[in-house]
Amino acid sequence: MGDKRYYGVDIGGTSVKIGLFEGAALQKSWSVPTDTSDGGRNILRDIAASLPGPADGAALAVPGAVLPDGTVNRCVNLGWGVCRPTDQFTALTGIPCRVLNDANAAALGEQRLGGGRGYQDVLFVALGTGVGSGVVLGGKVRSGARGTAGEIGHLCMDPDDTKAQCSCGLTGCLETYCSATGVVRLAALAGRPGLTCKQVFDAAAAGDETLGAVVDRSCGILGRGIAAACALIDPEAVVLGGGVALAGEFFRAKVQRAFERHCFHACQGTEISLATLGSDAGMYGTALYAME
Ligand SMILES: [Zn+2]
Repeated sequence: MGDKRYYGVDIGGTSVKIGLFEGAALQKSWSVPTDTSDGGRNILRDIAASLPGPADGAALAVPGAVLPDGTVNRCVNLGWGVCRPTDQFTALTGIPCRVLNDANAAALGEQRLGGGRGYQDVLFVALGTGVGSGVVLGGKVRSGARGTAGEIGHLCMDPDDTKAQCSCGLTGCLETYCSATGVVRLAALAGRPGLTCKQVFDAAAAGDETLGAVVDRSCGILGRGIAAACALIDPEAVVLGGGVALAGEFFRAKVQRAFERHCFHACQGTEISLATLGSDAGMYGTALYAME
């Protein structure tokens, strides 16, 4: 008998990333397009059709809230309402299946194999189109009673900022300042419309004062939000991922400085590091979750 086989399946709004693992070792990975037509009803069938064979377990990462019993409470990007995708996946494949939120999956991947390696208690924050985050405590993902534990993207940083309209319906959420979309928005408000997030960071790093102030504001709010999260969970390390974190040490150092300015004194020295697994973090995390 060889090692047990697992599939890690990270379902995104445009593509699904799938990895086949034997024991803990990745054997191969591939992608299938996400067919969001018809309420996303073909997504799991397309995944099942791409699998090269049976396995001992699988886990799905989905862009939505996952309740403790495996019920998914809407995935707007997939066209899914309240559903139980694990039941359908197992019916299609015969493979036992678990499900978790995509940011939580990436948090587990980064904690075990990436920027949080060596630590048991990690806060992971992914800064992309939106802000996703996840909490790993004692080496286990903590999803919370309603699947929203660690969602710092919707911490209210400035309820009176009516220009900061969040996709969740509130105003002044951390996401509206600290996501890539938020950085672009702040640059436009500062009189520099039409730039990408990368262009804003590149110009700031090259000495552009206006965009430097934009970046400082964004990183300042992120550091303040992370300080609030650390007051609650006091992790050993905070890992920053997603497209914004590709700005690297320039970005990380600014967030760390803002964090240390705003955190409770005893939280000083919390390690803030950069993610290392990139867009594979969720695929690794789901496979690890399947193996638990
Ligand atoms: Zn929000």
